[in-house]
Amino acid sequence: MTDCLFCKIGEGSVPSDTVFEDESVKVFKDIHPKAPVHLLVIPKSHVDSVMNLEPAHAEMVSSLIYAAKKIARELGLAGYKLVFNVGREGGQVIDHLHLHLLGGWSGRADNDAPLHI
Ligand code: AMP
Ligand code: ZN
Repeated sequence: MTDCLFCKIGEGSVPSDTVFEDESVKVFKDIHPKAPVHLLVIPKSHVDSVMNLEPAHAEMVSSLIYAAKKIARELGLAGYKLVFNVGREGGQVIDHLHLHLLGGWSGRADNDAPLHI
């Protein structure tokens, strides 16, 4: 998609603080972190949202989760949250599928602790 920020980050025409990428996935630091570790995991191909997923996307979605798991392990996170915001009412602002990886709270003060849902 030509006018999509995360497509541009995926192809590298907009810079990002990238921690991992392969041919289909990119992982980069969220510009406004909401946890000590806050990364975004995106597919390089454009899909708007979980709402637009189809059976053909199954492998792509699992690759996002697998990339998150790999990076979390490499960062030594003892635990973490994986979050998809879905639609405006679900807090989604950017209409390119992205998985939030949030963690790194251990040893932090209570007010930095994770939200338990
Ligand atoms: P969401 O609310 O689920 O759509 O999440 C979008 C996320 O993208 C937010 O957490 C933003 O802080 C983050 N974000 C927006 N622009 C950038 C950018 N250029 N680089 C990194 N993260 C970004
Ligand atoms: Zn896109």
